Amino acid sequence: MELIKSIPYGRQNISLEDIDAVVSILQSDYLTQGYAVPAFEERISQFCNSRYAVAVNSATSALHLACKALGVTQGDIVWTSPISFVASANCALYCQATVDFVDIDLDTGNIAVEILEKMLQKAKKLKKLPKVLIVVHMTGRPCNLQRINELSREYGFKVIEDASHAIGAEYMAEKIGSCRFSDVAVFSFHPVKIITTGEGGMIVTNDPNTAQKIKTLRSHGVIKDIDRFLLNSDGGWYYEQVDLGYNYRMNDIEAALGISQMNRISLFIAERRKLAKRYRTLLATLGVRTLSPAADEMSAWHLFPIFLGSSIERLAVFNKMRNIGIEVNVHYIPIYKQPYYKNLNMSFSPCPNAEKYYDCVLSLPIYFGLKEHEQDYIVGKLAEFMSEI
Ligand SMILES: *Cc1c(COP(=O)(O)O)cnc(C)c1O
Repeated sequence: MELIKSIPYGRQNISLEDIDAVVSILQSDYLTQGYAVPAFEERISQFCNSRYAVAVNSATSALHLACKALGVTQGDIVWTSPISFVASANCALYCQATVDFVDIDLDTGNIAVEILEKMLQKAKKLKKLPKVLIVVHMTGRPCNLQRINELSREYGFKVIEDASHAIGAEYMAEKIGSCRFSDVAVFSFHPVKIITTGEGGMIVTNDPNTAQKIKTLRSHGVIKDIDRFLLNSDGGWYYEQVDLGYNYRMNDIEAALGISQMNRISLFIAERRKLAKRYRTLLATLGVRTLSPAADEMSAWHLFPIFLGSSIERLAVFNKMRNIGIEVNVHYIPIYKQPYYKNLNMSFSPCPNAEKYYDCVLSLPIYFGLKEHEQDYIVGKLAEFMSEI
């Protein structure tokens, strides 16, 4: 058996084809605003079966532009999951909105729809309904989108899917990103996610106005399309700034890597599902709690979380695993616990399930390229360290 040095919780897979794709852009005329970004967008919208896809420089930028395009502004309320990366809530703060959190279901790690419904009933009476709900497909497992969609129509809010973990996941026989039950979905291409562009993100939607707004906002709010000019053109050089946008563009080097990675996405997902299944079998004998196995085959398996018996046990196991180079991690600290959020002077709904989840959760390594003998080693060490406590 080869010597195991350090095993991260997630990592990218880069092939010779990926390297060739990037090099070919470096040798071409356009490093940015060339052909690769539109080609990558086309690839993603075909894969997800969405009408539009707009590439940006991160999922964080994607979430910001999605909120902007859906009209989130000062005085508006945005709800999201407390068990997510801070970016899922920060995007609302960028737009001067107020944030609140909907507690999670401990079996799935996703927003609990019964809790959402109760919160909506209460918010309706208080006339404090959210304008947008940002759901997170935690670990790559799809939320109950159908029910969330029904509630969105009943209570009049929009839905953004933070699908940073979930490209390749499926819901009701469709790919996440089809936006059948939402207004917008966003993907992340950070190296620990399912596919990577180094840094990068994508917004998918079926609404032409939303797609156009996002395209304008990602590039300074500047348009060059003569049909959309508000004033008369001065000549062929003329462009107009029609909104306060940003430079959130993806470049062609990143897009070329993304296209090449998309050639292997089915392989990546199949391997992650295989590893997850294998973890379940190995962990079953140890009596370790995992997420409910119900939707295993639909998940993209960005993360594989387990739950230790207590926060003390989690800390001990975390330290012991890290000491021997197994880079386990914790996803996530409830967002409202962050000092920045505590100092916001906003009141957040209690999330006892999120607290419980955070206390005991530990992410085991899972990525394309993780070897079976490494998985055996991880589970073996886990068993050893748990028995020492
Ligand atoms: C990674 C991640 C983000 C941010 O993605 P970036 O591309 O790094 O900006 C947002 N939300 C969730 C749930 C994530 O996991």
